[in-house]
Amino acid sequence: MAAFRERWQRWWRGGAAGEPGLDALLLEHYPGAVMLLDDQGVVRRVNPAFERYAGHPPEQLLGRRAVTLDIDPLHGDFARALEQCVTTLRPWQGLLLCRRADGSLRHQTTMIQPLVRDEGPLRLLVMQYDVTGMRERELRDRQLLGRLESTVSRVPSALFRLRQGGNGQLEFLYLSEALRSLFGLAPEQCMDDPEALLGRLARDDRQRFEASLAQSAVSLAPWQLEFRLSLPEGMRWIEARATPLARGQGDLMWDGLLIDIDERKQVEQRVQRLVGTDMLTEALNRRAFLEQGEAALARATRHGESLSLAMLDLDHFKALNDTYGHAVGDLALQAFATTCRESLRPYDLFARIGGEEFVVVLVDSRPEEAWSVLERLRQAVAAIELESEGEVVRFTVSLGLAVLGGEGSLESGLAQADRALYRAKRSGRNRICGPEALIQDPGAP
Ligand code: GH3
Ligand code: MG
Ligand code: MG
Repeated sequence: MAAFRERWQRWWRGGAAGEPGLDALLLEHYPGAVMLLDDQGVVRRVNPAFERYAGHPPEQLLGRRAVTLDIDPLHGDFARALEQCVTTLRPWQGLLLCRRADGSLRHQTTMIQPLVRDEGPLRLLVMQYDVTGMRERELRDRQLLGRLESTVSRVPSALFRLRQGGNGQLEFLYLSEALRSLFGLAPEQCMDDPEALLGRLARDDRQRFEASLAQSAVSLAPWQLEFRLSLPEGMRWIEARATPLARGQGDLMWDGLLIDIDERKQVEQRVQRLVGTDMLTEALNRRAFLEQGEAALARATRHGESLSLAMLDLDHFKALNDTYGHAVGDLALQAFATTCRESLRPYDLFARIGGEEFVVVLVDSRPEEAWSVLERLRQAVAAIELESEGEVVRFTVSLGLAVLGGEGSLESGLAQADRALYRAKRSGRNRICGPEALIQDPGAP
C-alpha cells in the first residue's frame, strides 16, 4: 500500500525518470485560460496557453484585475462571481461573455475555485473554457426551431404525435398551436389530458375512432379517419391522417395531421341530399331510404332500442287526380310531404317509395309514442285544404305501423307495415293499423 502511494506521488509530481507530472501536463496542455488571482481579483499568474485562449498577452493582464476580461468589467457577472467567492469561500461556475484584445467576443465557461490555505492569504483559481462555437450552434438550432415552430403553426392543420402505451392508454406527446387557432382547443391542456380532445368525439364516432386506431396498430398501415368533434363553436368534421411507428413492447406512436374538413363534408352532404331526394316532395328517395334506414336500424340494434316504421298511402288518390287533374294531385303530394315533415323530428326518416306511397322511420321513439305522432300526422293531413277552381280539395292517408325489435330486418319491417296498411285500407281508410298491443284508438273518423 505504502509502495503504491509512493509510486503514485512520484508519477503525479513527475518523479519517474523523464516523465513529467500530471500537474505540469495539465498546466501545459489545458485547452483554456487559467489564472491565479489574489483576494482583490488581481491576476498573479497565468498558464502558458493563456494568450491563445483569452486573447490577451499575459503581460497586459498580470498585475491587473481579471474582470477587465468581462464585457462589463465593473458590474458584469465576473465581478459579482468573484465577490461571491471571496465572501462565501465557495466555488462558482457559470458562463461569462469576455472580450479579447482584438475586440471579438467569446463565451467562456468559467470555474472559480477559492484556495483556502492554513498559512498565506486567499487565492482564487480561475479556469475558462471557450464554448463560443457550441453557443453559436445552440443559437442557430434555437432559431431553426423557432422558424420551424412558426411554419408548423401556419400549416392549416394541427400536427400531432399520439402515443399508445403497452396498457392501451392514449396520450398526445405533441399537438401544434394550430389546434387552438383552428379548433379552439388548448394544445397544452390536451397534452395533459387526452380526454380534453377525445372526450369531444361524437358518441358514435368514438367507437369508430378506437376500432380504426386498433386496426392501424395491428397492421401498422397508415391511419385515416373522418369523425365529428364537438368544439366550442359547434360540431365539426375532422379528418385524421397519420403514420404509425412501433416502438416495441406494445408501445406505438402515430405522427400525423388533424385536418378541418367541415366545409368539404357540408358540400358532400348537400350533394348526397340532392342525389337521395325526390324532386317533387323533397322526401328521401327509395335508394337513400334503404341506405339510411339500414343505418338507423343498425344504430337502434346497437343501443338495444326498437325502431318504429310506418307505410303511408294516400287514399283514393287516383280519384283525386281524375277529378281535379294531375297538377292538383302534385300539389296535394307536396302539401302532404310538408305536413309530414312538420309532424316529424329532423332526424326521423321520411321517404317517397312509390307514386303516392311513403315510409316514415321514427328514430328512438317508444312504439306508443310513435303511434301518437302518426295519429297527429293523420289528423293534420285530413285537415289540409287545397283549392281548385273555387272548390276545396281534401284528402286523407292510411298508415300501417310496424315495430322492429333487435332481430328484425328492414325488409321484414316493410312487409309487416305493408300488411298493416292493407288492413287499414280494408277497414275503411284514413286510419292507422299496427301491432295489436298498440291499438289505443282505431283512429277512424
Ligand atoms: P287507395 O286508397 O286504395 O290507395 O286508392 P288509390 O287511388 O290511391 O290507389 P291507386 O294505387 O289505384 O292509385 C294511385 C294513384 O296515384 C295513381 C296515380 O295516378 C297517382 N300518382 C302516382 N304518382 C303520382 C304523381 O307523382 N303525381 C300525381 N298527381 N299522381 C300520382
Ligand atoms: Mg298506392
Ligand atoms: Mg293510394
